[in-house]
Amino acid sequence: PNYTKVNVNNELHHVIELLKHQFEKSNIKLNLKFSEDIPSIYADCSQIHQVFLNIIVNAIQAINQNGVIEIETFAKDGYVNIKFRDNGVGILPEHIHKIFEPFFTTKEAGKGTGLGLAVSKRIIDEHNGKIEVESTPGKGTVFTVKFPTYIKKE
Ligand code: ADP
Ligand code: MG
Repeated sequence: PNYTKVNVNNELHHVIELLKHQFEKSNIKLNLKFSEDIPSIYADCSQIHQVFLNIIVNAIQAINQNGVIEIETFAKDGYVNIKFRDNGVGILPEHIHKIFEPFFTTKEAGKGTGLGLAVSKRIIDEHNGKIEVESTPGKGTVFTVKFPTYIKKE
């Protein structure tokens, strides 16, 4: 891995740009609430991209119609927080403890490998971060990802 000082807003913009056509094709409205002067994190850029991509693609795939995805960034208690909210199908209570397990998927064969969140969680753990999920079936899902704020070493 190649760790550098990273601004999460920039990396999110980058991933959103990659997914632009998917948002347009699926008619999903994107709401960005980025905190302007967010502190940096210390991270491997390509791994962070993968995490953001996995979470956002899941959100897109969870949406049937009138989709809205909101991405919020803010700093709190020594962590940079990224919240991903979607108004998709949600996650059943009996599934929620399994979603970070490798190969758990509710998607039809060929559509999901069940690896996205397992890999994302591993990457986040390696960055000393955290990932949390809250979901209401039929209403939507919120994933919160937290990374420790980068502190300049003297
Ligand atoms: P995959 O996308 O290949 O199924 P993931 O590890 O990315 O594997 O996700 C595992 C499962 O978690 C999905 O199959 C789905 O059931 C659930 N899931 C993840 N994100 C969302 C979301 N935003 N809305 C609803 N369900 C989700
Ligand atoms: Mg996935």
